[in-house]
Amino acid sequence: MEQNIILIGSKLIIDGFIYHKSRDKPELEKTFWDCTRLRKKEYRARAISTLARDGEVPRILKGPQHEPFHSHAPDQDECEAEVVKYSVKNEAQRQPERPPSQIARDATRDLSQRVLARLPERENLKRSMRKVRRRHLPANPRILDELLDLPERFTITFTGKKFLIYDSREVEDVGRVIVSATKRNLLLLRESDVWFLDGTFKVSPSIFTQLFTVLGIVKRHQNFAALPLVYALLSSKETRQYSTALQAIKSAAEERSDEELEFLELIGSNIVL
Ligand SMILES: [Zn+2]
Repeated sequence: MEQNIILIGSKLIIDGFIYHKSRDKPELEKTFWDCTRLRKKEYRARAISTLARDGEVPRILKGPQHEPFHSHAPDQDECEAEVVKYSVKNEAQRQPERPPSQIARDATRDLSQRVLARLPERENLKRSMRKVRRRHLPANPRILDELLDLPERFTITFTGKKFLIYDSREVEDVGRVIVSATKRNLLLLRESDVWFLDGTFKVSPSIFTQLFTVLGIVKRHQNFAALPLVYALLSSKETRQYSTALQAIKSAAEERSDEELEFLELIGSNIVL
């Protein structure tokens, strides 16, 4: 009889039974697996495979069909849920820019009610994805001097557009000023007659003093709204930091690009460049 074997991380699914890796025995070229329900007094439900090497599905030497001691029936729905739990974590790691809620939605869209019932609550699924991601992020700097150039992934948007417009790291006597905005938002800001400047101290990362936000008036449908268009991290409340940030916004807004031309066409602006 053909066996259905799936290896997911340190778990092995054989014909509707889920096993945890118990231990590798390289000297015997074998890996021992315990049924995940072992603790429920199932002392002998164990599988043995050839030594499980990285990502390779091992050959089963002793599996459920030789092992009549499970105190429960095989459960394909539970196995399918197990695969989904594993694959959302994998996906969260593979595509760090995708929101966990979106990954969870895509992964669960076509599942049967029975499988859905075996999955953890949506919130827990999202939490497990965030946990995996944190494990693969660089450690947070504890002091400002530890914050070197930002890794590239933090300088662009989810869609690959330039987001970091200024970093004072190499500039002397300014302290640290990091300014972020998309070209589109800078153009919206340029079109706005009024700017609102807002310094928020509470939500700022601990190594900075404040998150400085510039809001502009944007027309949406028939209404006008004040939207945050530029975000800056400032290491102090000194005047020169504010002027550095504003100067950076001005220079970036004056840079012309193809994207800008496309955007102006899109909003039907009559501005002559
Ligand atoms: Zn079992």
